Amino acid sequence: MKQFDQAAALLKLTASQTAMIKQPRKCVEVTLPIRMDDGTIKTFTGYRVQHNIARGPAKGGVRYHPNVSLDEVKALSFWMTFKCAVANIPMGGGKGGIIVDPQKLSHGELERLSRRYFSELEEMFGPDRDVPAPDVNTNPQIMAWFMDTYSMHKREHLPAVVTGKPLEIGGSKGRVLATSLGLLFATRRAVAANGEKMAGLTVAVQGFGNVGGNAAVLLHQDGCKILAISDQYGAFHNPDGINVPEAMKYAEKNNGLKGFESTKLAKKMADPMELLELKVEILAPCALELQLTKANANKVKARYIAEGANGPCDSDADEIFNKKGIFVIPDILCNAGGVVVSYFEWVQNRMGYYWSVDRINRELEDVMNIAFDAVYETQLQYNCPMRVAAFAVAIKRVSVASEMRGLYA
Ligand code: GLU
Repeated sequence: MKQFDQAAALLKLTASQTAMIKQPRKCVEVTLPIRMDDGTIKTFTGYRVQHNIARGPAKGGVRYHPNVSLDEVKALSFWMTFKCAVANIPMGGGKGGIIVDPQKLSHGELERLSRRYFSELEEMFGPDRDVPAPDVNTNPQIMAWFMDTYSMHKREHLPAVVTGKPLEIGGSKGRVLATSLGLLFATRRAVAANGEKMAGLTVAVQGFGNVGGNAAVLLHQDGCKILAISDQYGAFHNPDGINVPEAMKYAEKNNGLKGFESTKLAKKMADPMELLELKVEILAPCALELQLTKANANKVKARYIAEGANGPCDSDADEIFNKKGIFVIPDILCNAGGVVVSYFEWVQNRMGYYWSVDRINRELEDVMNIAFDAVYETQLQYNCPMRVAAFAVAIKRVSVASEMRGLYA
């Protein structure tokens, strides 16, 4: 909300304009009874929030995590509205979640939970209404179950109801890598804006899931030196640089970085949060929210922060980074690549015509560069931090759309 308010003040948004676009429009909570493999019934809580639909159908992932809450889903849906707007794709913002640790469920339990979630919320979803996608702990298989549940109920093949599907059933080429590739494009642009080159820059990446793992690979391919990586099993450091392709192979084989120190490719750090304080040029927080706060922001030594995660820095940390002159590439810009290729997937589903991966990546690069430049120019124009500039660009677009549509009652 502070992020919004700063940008709204800059734009001199009126109270009426703010009222139209700040709060989520629809929040639904459902209780999902699931038959477990042992025959007992357990209930889970699920949410879907539609924050804003002025520019198009709600768009945003579904997260499976024990710490999911309505507040978290609302915040994430808010970021989706402005992420889609900053990327200038014709979609609004939404988000969903289930309070669950999916690692504790069998394949069958996970399928029943996913299908029940989608069918309970069926009225909210639709290709022109609200289009979910993967987020933390959800994947193409889960999207396939969502799509199948919806299509079976509607008696129609409706792949555009969800994005991030497997390729075989209407997924898009390039979707899995998209968030990380977008992060790479945005980081390259930031580094170039400072007159620097990527090759040789040192990096620490927090999170080794779809976003962090692939970001580490792509930054490594660009000539950066990845000094540290981490996941839920710990942080791993090598001052000479980690062999990222090997780390990726290890994580795929072992379902994470548990025991990675045994490969001698890196040492396990005593406290995983120390990764954020390492002396590196680029810090890429690609895990969960609120990792950088007033407790540790002062100790950050990086010169660039590339936010692969949603909301990794709180507003106190932002203030500290601004004072220190750290170049923050804000989440709604930096990690927008995922939803941009989701949008391409939705377009392809509706056209019934599928693009090559070259076309996807080329168009993604264009969208990211145009978005970056709009934010960068706004930052220069208002002499404000990149995050405020990103919100200013996005809020303006949502507000104009909302005013043009008007209030119907
Ligand atoms: N979960 C991703 C995000 O937070 C992607 C959302 C989408 O593709 O709709 O941006």
